[in-house]
Amino acid sequence: MSRAAEFVFPPPAIPALQVAGTAALFPVRRIYCVGQNYAAHAREMGHDARTPPFFFGKPADAVVPGGGRIAYPSRTKNFHHEVELVVALGKAGADIAREDALGHVFGYAVGIDLTRRDLQAEAREKRQPWDTAKGFDRAAPVGQIYRTADVGHVSKGAIWFKVNGAIRQSGDLADLIWPVPDIIAELSKFFALAAGDLIFTGTPSGVGPLQRGDRGEGGIDRLGTVAVEIV
Ligand code: MN
Repeated sequence: MSRAAEFVFPPPAIPALQVAGTAALFPVRRIYCVGQNYAAHAREMGHDARTPPFFFGKPADAVVPGGGRIAYPSRTKNFHHEVELVVALGKAGADIAREDALGHVFGYAVGIDLTRRDLQAEAREKRQPWDTAKGFDRAAPVGQIYRTADVGHVSKGAIWFKVNGAIRQSGDLADLIWPVPDIIAELSKFFALAAGDLIFTGTPSGVGPLQRGDRGEGGIDRLGTVAVEIV
């Protein structure tokens, strides 16, 4: 006799972000990230600013909707903040033309690419993958998603990060080496993108450590803020 297959245990909940000004949720499918997309940050990491940006990923369930309390992660002594513009895709595509790219965007948010900087440095040195440095649990706090229908497309505007009220990162989206349409076009050459994908677009200079007890807050003009408390 046949019947519909059942899961051997309940499937995990789909990670989701609040859509600003609505009661709706944005279901997260994948999290892609761009490395070194602001010249000043590439330089502070010891790289030539002309080096093309590159991609890495985080698991979708690393997302921390709206920020909040984050436990200081295990196996690091140098836990860093990277505030970033996050692009939320609402339409699938592969080999997307640069001119068509913005049509795939559902909205934008503020995100924090939390990083075990010591493990990242070690991985880079040993030419090993970055997963333990970038893809750990709760490594991707993201604020509310602001729909393009409400805020349009963001290509300029202040991006900042404060630790305990003091400015640590300060930049402008106009300084992205690869703007959003270029990122989507390039990323879609490697992966078939889909609705629900998030893209962290890189961080401006000023990255630095977070300690237990710190309150970190990131913001972008028109896109609100996201705050974390390290416990
Ligand atoms: Mn980053």
